[in-house]
Order: sequence, then structure tokens, then C-alpha cells
Amino acid sequence: MHGPELSSSTIAVGAGRPARTPGAPLNAPITLASALVPGGESEYGRHGNPAWTAFEEVLGALEGGRALAFASGQAACAAVFDLVPARAAVVAPAGAYSGTLVQLRERARRGLIDLRLVDVTDTQAVVDAADDAALVWLESPTNPLLEVADVEHIAAEAARAGTAVAVDNTFATPLRQKPLELGADFVVHSASKLISGHSDVILGAVVTGNPRAHRAIEARRANLGAIPGAMECWLATRGIRTLHVRLDRAEANAREIARRLQSSSVVSGIRYPGWGTILSFEVQGGPEMAQKVTEQSDVITHATSLGGVESTWERRRRHAAEPDVVPEALVRLSVGIEDVEDIWYDVERSLAAI
Ligand SMILES: *Cc1c(COP(=O)(O)O)cnc(C)c1O
Repeated sequence: MHGPELSSSTIAVGAGRPARTPGAPLNAPITLASALVPGGESEYGRHGNPAWTAFEEVLGALEGGRALAFASGQAACAAVFDLVPARAAVVAPAGAYSGTLVQLRERARRGLIDLRLVDVTDTQAVVDAADDAALVWLESPTNPLLEVADVEHIAAEAARAGTAVAVDNTFATPLRQKPLELGADFVVHSASKLISGHSDVILGAVVTGNPRAHRAIEARRANLGAIPGAMECWLATRGIRTLHVRLDRAEANAREIARRLQSSSVVSGIRYPGWGTILSFEVQGGPEMAQKVTEQSDVITHATSLGGVESTWERRRRHAAEPDVVPEALVRLSVGIEDVEDIWYDVERSLAAI
């Protein structure tokens, strides 16, 4: 159905739909089944489900590889970490998502891996650390410091050293960054965020263009049972249909909010790569003040998570697992698709309390 010339917007809308046979639904149905009639692709619900396939087809088409849906972003990360040979080195950003760091640190503590944390914006440091490593884990932009890695350069150097590269593409989405095209071996998503886009799903995915790696990841999922629900895949498929529209609007809003924050006298250290829907900044007056600001907004919801249609913000260090490279007074703002003037009014009003 899809030639390589179709744009991402068209793929987001059209991929992963059932064959156009008379009477067929336009959307893949939610199939609730633990067992399926033998002779098809799978016959047990831990090995496959048509609702997973629909989501995997559209995400895979957008990323340019084959996708496998997981129970959560964390389960998707774990499936990739599980491929690392015993005691091999793993390079990862010191400012990676807290849950990812918790997993990696735990593996290092048990002696399963040799963990090397790096500043992901220091390309040469990443390349040097990657030299005899099994895996370079990138996250770009990072959550919540919005650090951007030079994925293409790092992937080229890692390939020379025989080191696999995985990119957590949650913040960028395949509409702003296609890591497989930049030379990465794996893309990982928390589809709970922008891909689903409505703060109603926990879901993850791993995408790869390598058939052997795909089979290995699929085996991890089936054997460990970190499988997604059919309902979650259906919701994520529905969400991804509008990803391009949501992203364009939220990004335009985020860019404007980041620009206006520059002239605020009560915030500093505004972090925004110039694209994407998430930004962070530090509130003057310290963590208590940052906490207060985030708790008194009206349009913006005080909540964790990100990437929904609604704007949300929080002081990240209120979570005990947040790494200390994240400043105590840092607020992460996930900009939604509301009217930008309403969001800005709320930001100004909340900051006025300082
Ligand atoms: C949320 C998040 C995860 C974890 O995903 P879950 O779906 O919550 O398990 C991983 N990486 C990044 C960058 C995230 O923001």
C-alpha cells in the first residue's frame, strides 16, 4: 500500500489498517483473545495479537524498521539491555530518563554490565567510551535536561568499533528524528507519551531494521511476557493517527513559550533545543518556589508524564529516583495543544507568585 515516497503524515494516517475487503472495518479491532485458531501467525496471546500488529505496522513504517510493542517503555528498554552479553560495557547518558538509569545501575550493581555514564552532548567522550562497549544507549533529547546527541556521528563511530547503538526516541518521535536512518541499530519508545498523546496509555516499543535483532527482541517479549494489552495498542494506534498534527501545534506553542520565558526575570537556565514540545527551566527562589509555581497553575496540569494534548508540568526532583544532574529547582513543561495565549497567561500568573 505504501511507496517510499509517502510522507510521514500520510503513513501515520494510513499504515496498519486492515485489508480493504468488502465489509472489513477501517480500523483494526481490539482483539481480546488468549488463544487463536492454529495455522495463523500465532496461536497464543503471549506471542501475538492483531491489535499489536496494527500498532507495530504504523510505528515501524514511521521509523523505517520493524516495531515490537511492549507493556511499557521500561519493558522495551529492558528487552534491549537483555541482549548485552554478560559483563560487557554499556555507555549511557548521565542525564538519561530516571527509570532507564535505575535499570542500568541495578544491572551494574549485580555485576551484569560495566556501566559508563557520559555527557551525551560531548560526542568525543561518547565515542571514546563506546570503543570496547557492547551497547551505546542514547536518549536525544534527554528527559528532562533536553540534551541533544549527535546520533549520526556517534552511530558511525560505534559501527566502526562493532558497538550497537540504541536511541530512546520518546521526545523526538519519528516525525522529528529517525535514528535508524542516522545509523542506529535500535529505536526505543515510551509510547505512553507523544505517540499515544492523550495520557491514557502505558505502552512501549522497540524498532529495529535488523531481522536477527528483531527475532531476539521478539523472543525476549514472548519469554519474559512483557506484552502489551490489545486495548493499549488500539489506543496508541488511534493516537498516532494525529501525531503530526498534535506535534506541529504543540511544538509551535512550545517554541513561543520558550521564547517568552527568555525575558522572564524569575526563571533561568531555559532548556529548549529549538524544536519538540518539551522544555525545562529553573525557578529562582529554589525548589520550594518551583514546587509552589507548578502547584498553582490552572490551564497547565500539575502532573508527571508528558506528551499529552494537555500541558503538564512538574518539578522533576520531587521524584527520589531523579538523577542529581537535574537541578533541584528545574521544572519540566510538556506543552500541549491548547491556545498558546492561555498557556502563557497561566505560566505568567503562576510565576507571578514568586
Ligand atoms: C517515560 C519515559 C520512559 C519510560 O516509559 P514508560 O512507558 O513510562 O515505561 C523511557 N524513556 C523516556 C525518555 C521517557 O520519557
